[in-house]
Amino acid sequence: MNSNPAAVPSPAPLPPPAPWLWLDGELRAAAETGGSLFAHALHYGTGVFEGIRVYPTARGAAIFRLEDHLARLKRGAAHLGMAVDERALAAASLAVLRANRHESAYLRPLVFLGAGGLGLDVGAQRTHALVASLPWRNHLGEAGERGVRLRTSPLRRVSSGAVPPLKFCGLYVNSVLAKREAALGGWDEALFIDARGGVCEATGENVFLVKDGRVTAVAHPDALPGITRDTVIALAGAESRAVRAGELREADEVFLTGTSAEIAAVAALDDRIYGANPVTRALQREYSEIVRGRTAARSGWLTPV
Ligand code: PMP
Repeated sequence: MNSNPAAVPSPAPLPPPAPWLWLDGELRAAAETGGSLFAHALHYGTGVFEGIRVYPTARGAAIFRLEDHLARLKRGAAHLGMAVDERALAAASLAVLRANRHESAYLRPLVFLGAGGLGLDVGAQRTHALVASLPWRNHLGEAGERGVRLRTSPLRRVSSGAVPPLKFCGLYVNSVLAKREAALGGWDEALFIDARGGVCEATGENVFLVKDGRVTAVAHPDALPGITRDTVIALAGAESRAVRAGELREADEVFLTGTSAEIAAVAALDDRIYGANPVTRALQREYSEIVRGRTAARSGWLTPV
């Protein structure tokens, strides 16, 4: 028997209150929302989504580059004939974060075609819009901290000549397959290379290299125009250009950028092992200060909640 009351195990914590989400114009308890099994998006991937980070700052939570994410969402949605009200989604983002009391979170707006016909001609289906907030977790997990073990994927990225490189739900089957293939082999992440040996991107991040202190952003027509990529180009004064796979091997450092991954150093690319990554580490520190509002620089990128 343990006589120390402090050591008595406490009862299991109550489950957190049901998170709220915003759906089609109103806040709703997530547990009470359902969806049609005949939603067009479920069958054909006809939706567009965003991933947006929310950071704690000294003055409360703030959303990083909200307007840029919503603008990209709108561009993707337009391809499917779906209207996006950016102001409504911005207000919804604030409402859902406040309702969930999330300070460090991942916002997930999703605009998709619902029920109304399973034909491939769209227009008859209703457009739904959702904004959910999830407690924060880096999707690269601890690999983001220790350095990502990256493997060249045997799969190709979907060509921008087939589907514009935006955040279409269906396009992500390509990323899921490549990531799964890499994970089954024990790797953290997969790198898409095109048929001519040009570097494209990773499954959920853009790619950068550092050589002799110079930072280069990989440019490729099939890669998502990443907002973190744009941020890092601005911070590092990086050049943006096409890069051959061999250049990554010869680089001093390689790193990945994404809303979720932030700036993640690559520890290894196939059999090439990288070193201490000092330039990447310095950029990580700078990025971390900016997104948490610890520097006046670039404060226009933050939307207070
Ligand atoms: N490429 C792909 C395929 C992605 O899914 C993401 C994540 N949105 C990125 C790159 C990085 O984009 P961002 O910096 O805008 O998150």
